[in-house]
Formats: sequence, structure tokens, C-alpha cells
Amino acid sequence: MSDFIADIAVNIPLKQLFSYRIPESLVSSTDVGMRVKIPFGRRLTVGFILSIRNGDAAGLKDLQGLFEDEPILSSELIKLLRWAADYYCHPIGQVVRTALPAALGNEKTTVKIRTEAIYQPLDPEIKLRGKTQQELLTFIIQEKSVGLTRIREQFSAPHAALKRLVEVGALQCDERELCRDPFRLDKLPVDQCITLNSAQSEAVDRITSAIDDNCFSGFLLHGVTGSGKTEVYLHSVDQCLAAGRQALVLVPEISLTPQLVSRFRARFELKGIRIAVLHSGLSSGERYDAWREIMRNQIQIVIGARSAVFAPLQNLGLIVVDEEHESSYKQAEGFRYNARDLALVRGQQQHCPVLLGSATPSFASYYRSEQGALTRLTLDKRVHAGDLPKVEIIDLKEQVCDGELSNVLIEAIQQALEQQEQVLLLLNRRGFAPFLLCADCGETFCCPNCEITLTYHQQKRELRCHYCDYVDVVPESCHKCQGLNIEPQGAGTEKLEEELEKLFPSARIKRMDRDTTSRKGAHQNIMTEMMARKIDILVGTQMIAKGHDFPGVSLVGVLAADSTLNIPDFRSGERSFSLFTQVAGRAGRASGGGKVYIQSYNPEHYALTCAAEQDYHQFYLQELPFRQELGYPPCGHLVNLVFSGNNNHQVQAAAKQFSSFLFRVAGSVEILGPSPCPLARLRGKSRYQILLKAAARPDLRRLLNRLDEQIAQLPRQVTLHIDVDPIDM
Ligand code: ADP
Ligand code: ZN
Repeated sequence: MSDFIADIAVNIPLKQLFSYRIPESLVSSTDVGMRVKIPFGRRLTVGFILSIRNGDAAGLKDLQGLFEDEPILSSELIKLLRWAADYYCHPIGQVVRTALPAALGNEKTTVKIRTEAIYQPLDPEIKLRGKTQQELLTFIIQEKSVGLTRIREQFSAPHAALKRLVEVGALQCDERELCRDPFRLDKLPVDQCITLNSAQSEAVDRITSAIDDNCFSGFLLHGVTGSGKTEVYLHSVDQCLAAGRQALVLVPEISLTPQLVSRFRARFELKGIRIAVLHSGLSSGERYDAWREIMRNQIQIVIGARSAVFAPLQNLGLIVVDEEHESSYKQAEGFRYNARDLALVRGQQQHCPVLLGSATPSFASYYRSEQGALTRLTLDKRVHAGDLPKVEIIDLKEQVCDGELSNVLIEAIQQALEQQEQVLLLLNRRGFAPFLLCADCGETFCCPNCEITLTYHQQKRELRCHYCDYVDVVPESCHKCQGLNIEPQGAGTEKLEEELEKLFPSARIKRMDRDTTSRKGAHQNIMTEMMARKIDILVGTQMIAKGHDFPGVSLVGVLAADSTLNIPDFRSGERSFSLFTQVAGRAGRASGGGKVYIQSYNPEHYALTCAAEQDYHQFYLQELPFRQELGYPPCGHLVNLVFSGNNNHQVQAAAKQFSSFLFRVAGSVEILGPSPCPLARLRGKSRYQILLKAAARPDLRRLLNRLDEQIAQLPRQVTLHIDVDPIDM
């Protein structure tokens, strides 16, 4: 006898799917992609049906029930999730879990569906007595059918009158499912009507014809800041909608890009096009609502950060990845996917073009465009204010400094302030000082959980670990030699702010870093003040380099460039170049002819000189031989195996044993390690890594496919994370 069998993803760390019989009573209502209740071990849990087949269900347990009467996962999305689980070597159940809004994975609660009463006129001729009743009825007839929320906006206490109207048969009341829309009350920004310049038109034409061809093609839109990339996105999305398809727009972080979101809303919402903005500020109910509306094809545009790459759009015509070089597209924990890379895969699967945009493309994307795998579209001029800022590198070996600032920079700040222009200073380290040092014995103060010094925060009078948030009081004396000469070493944004206050006592100085923006709305407040020119000098970490357009800034300073350059990672050159070029691009956006100073002990470094020239291609040419020689991505491929656990010896031994197995089966894959991770202890756990490196991806793949048995043999106390295409090691 043949039954219907559902193969189900369950949120546990195992790779396989679990099969259940679909009981007869549920056969007609059960579908692929549904969220179901299943007995698992001794409890009931949540699962997602990834496929349904015919077969012999002898010995299989039954599905217990459905959570919704419609699928949560589209078949397109299931395809992407399965691909990702396989590629990133991550258990499918956990992959599904990561992709979905949290509310959908919770086993205990079903998300409550909120409903609203909807009133519809039945008989306008009915005689009514009360004035309120008459007004209400007229209003409802005008609106044809209207929800209670909308009625309440017009009438203060409508209940009695409504009840009466229903009783006498003037109105009918239905229930409608209510979707929460967090933006409903926001005022729509004004759209600017823009005619594209020729470079922009050409880019949009290329993208449009790919949309019309209904097939995948990858584009890299390389355009300096202010060259009109966002406008290209807007026009391309417009074309995509005109073709009757939907668009997905990924941004590094919604809260840092309010300008992009409001430009999309201004352009499209008045035309009746619905946009879902997925961001971390949404409540779990709002996320759940947005998800279902997307599933029901009620949304045409989805804008969101990393996880929005999984939005269940079924008729995709275009995927845009803005600031594609940003490392936040890579998830750092758990299911370590890269949303930019998955966007390209999704474009292939759903036959639509993918547009990656950046002023400083990732080295990998630029390389692919050189190889022809991505089509490069270039916008090399700013739309307004023709000239890019002049950049000067200050050699700190030859400069007199007052604290963190060289005299040249101090003078330039003075001048900018006199001309009532704004100044942006980048120091990529928060806190007051990266560590405290005992001047008598040389002892430093480290985090007990992580192998890293504690950062000194002067305003809060505390030492804080930037990895695990461990907090300690500031010591009066050295715990080793009892000496009293404890001195802060190096400088962070807090110290720089203090120095600036002394140097420029009448300037209005603000700081923007993770400490000053942790409260909701704080980041937006600083941006608003900056736009309103209520700030003269803004000091900050890399946050200040991202996505805003401050027309009043004429001077940008990059301090301690070496702290970014000297991070021991093969991408430090790429990251420095990108960061400095981005922040330099903030100068003179409105007026043209801004000025940028970069302070460094290493002024000849090509990442600096190329950033100074704003010359991406030159940077690429300098960086390429280095990647080729060492076989680093994109000229080779990496997988990092990270072993962690409480007991250092045990972790080390397990990693050693694992590596000896790897050496036996490696073939052409290079095995590096095991070695302690750059952060050898993190949150109390010891960490070792083995890096796998291969010229060809299939070789790596084959090796990864052979690991399961070896992984099963790891001691229970040791955890292995597989990081495919790692971005920090
Ligand atoms: P990017 O995203 O590359 O930084 P934007 O698209 O934000 O650039 O464009 C920078 C500014 O120029 C914006 O204020 C935008 O409205 C304006 N702009 C873009 N394209 C044009 C155009 N073709 N004509 C006039 N203004 C434009
Ligand atoms: Zn720590």
C-alpha cells in the first residue's frame, strides 16, 4: 500500500531530513513548504516539509498537525536552502531556522493571527436616528469597505453606533486578517524626478535587457560615492516591476541606510507598490506578517539586510546587493552563509539578473568582473560637484603630533571650523584606549574569557572586553607588582574626542561608535544633527564611513591608518583600501574640492596610495600577484575548520587527530594547521583551526564530503564549526 510521506527539516544539528506519514485526514490540506507539528523523540516539535513523495510508510510516525493552512516556504526558497545547506556543510534544519523569522521556529506558540472587523454597507436607504450613525454610514459608504482602525481615526467612540448599524441591517461586519505595517504612519518623503545621465542610462539598459531575457546574469556596478548608483537601482527596479516581476534589495544594515529606504518608498509607494522593509527593529509579529505577505505575492519590493536574501519572493526579476563589499553580508556564527554569494546563486536558480553595487567592490567581485563572470558597469564621475576630494598622506615619522593629531591636520581642522565647514574624523577603535599597561612591570590587563586586552572606557570608568562584553573595574594598582603607574596605551575614539575638546573648546564635537549609538534612535539623532549642521566635528569608527551623504563636510581625517593596515589577515589591504576610500568620499560631496588627510607610519603602502588616488584598478593590479602567489581567494578557495571547547588540551588533541586524518585523504587540498585561532580563547573556550586551501572548488568539496564520519568521532566536549569561504580567520 502506498502512503504519502513528508520529508521534514527539523532544527537539530543533523544533516538529514526526517520522514513522517501524512495521515489520511491531512492529505488534502498538506503541502510542501508547510510548517507542521511532529512527534520527535519524546516531545512534539516544529518541522518544515521540504518534499512529499509516495511510498511505504510502515514504521513511520504520523504528522500531528499543521500550524497554518498555507505554505511558509516557497519551492524556490526550498531549492536555495538545500543548496546552501550543502554548500556551507550546515544541517538543513538549522539552515531553515536561520532563514525564517524567529516566530516561525518557536515550538510552543503558534503566532496569533490578528484580525480586524471590516464594515461594508448593505442598505443605504435604511432610516437612522442618531447623527453619529448617519455620519458613520455615509463615511463607510464612501469608503466602500473599511476597517475599524480607519474608522477610529475619524470617530472617537464608534462602537455603539456600529453595533446599532449592524443590528438594523445597514452594515455587514466581516473579519479580516490584519497585517501589521510598521511604516503605515510615517510620512512619505518627496521623490525627486531624475533624468539619468548617459553612464547611468547605459547601466540601466543593460540590466533591463537582462530582466527581459528572463535569465541570470551578474553585474558589478562600480561607481564612486555620489555617482548615482542608488538612482540606477531605482530605475532598474522600476523596469523589473514593469516586467511584472518582483525585486529584492539587500543592504548591509537598514538602520545605517535610512536614506536608501526612503528614496525607494518615495519612488514607489505613491504608485501603490508595496514595499516590505525587513529590519532588526521589527517585532516578531511584524516579521511573521511581512513573511506571509511576501509568500502571498502581495509585496513587490523587499528591502532588507543579510537574511532578506531568504525572503520568499516567487517571481523575482532582479536582486540588488548594495555595498556588496561589506563584510556584514557574511554571517559570523552558526550558519555562516554569505548573502552576497547566495544572491548570485538565487539569481541563477530563479533566472534573474543580480546587481552588485559598490564604490569599492570586494576584491573577489572585481576579479570576477575581470574574468568575465560578472559584467562590469562603471560610473566614474560624481553626479554633482565634479571633483573628487584631494587626498594627502601624512607621514607620522616626520610629523609633530599633539596626541593623535598631527599639526597639519590640526591646522586644517582649524581652517575648516573658521569657514564653518564640518569635519569627519575616522579612528577605527572605540573606547578610550585599547589597553592599560603597568609602567613598572609591563603587565597588561586581559579578559579572563578571551585572549585579548580589555579596552579602557574612561567615561564609564570600566575595562570592557569587545568580544564577550566582560566588564571589570579600572584597577588602582597592578595586580602583579602592586605598582601605581597604570597607563592607558594607544587611543580610541573616546580619547580623540577628549583631545579635540581641549584643542577646539568652542567647537561642537560628537562621537559616533557602538558605545554612543547603542540606544534606539541614537544613530539617527547624530545623523540628523550632522545634516542640520549642529555638529562641527564628528569623530567615529568605521560607522561614519557608511552610506550617508553629509553635504557640509569639507574635511576628512583618517587617524592611525596602521591599526587597520596591520591586522594579520590577507584581506587587510583590501579592507583598508575600501575603508579609506569610502571615508575619503565623504569630503566635499556638495561643494566639490574637499580635502582628506590620512595619517600613517607606512605612507608608501599601496592600499594608502591607491586610496589617495581613488584608483581602484591600480589597487587591484597591486593586490593580484599577492593573492595569486599564495592561492588566496578569489585565486583559490578556503574552508576553515574551527575546533572549540572548554579544555585546551582536549581541543588541541582533537584538532591534531582530525588533521592527521585530513593529511591522509587531502589529495590536492592543502592542509594548514592545526594552529591556535588568532583569538585563541574566546568567551572562555579554547580554539584551534585547520585551514583547507585548494585551487579548485571541487577538490575541496570532495574532501568535505568525506568528513562526516570523522566529525562523528569528535569528543562530545569539542565542537567543530565549518566555515566555508571564511572572511576572518
Ligand atoms: P550613490 O548611490 O552612487 O552614492 P546617488 O544615487 O545617491 O549616488 O546619487 C547622488 C545624488 O545625486 C543624489 O542626491 C541623487 O538624487 C542625485 N542624482 C543621481 N543621479 C542623478 C541624475 N542623473 N541627475 C541629477 N541628480 C542625480
Ligand atoms: Zn572576553
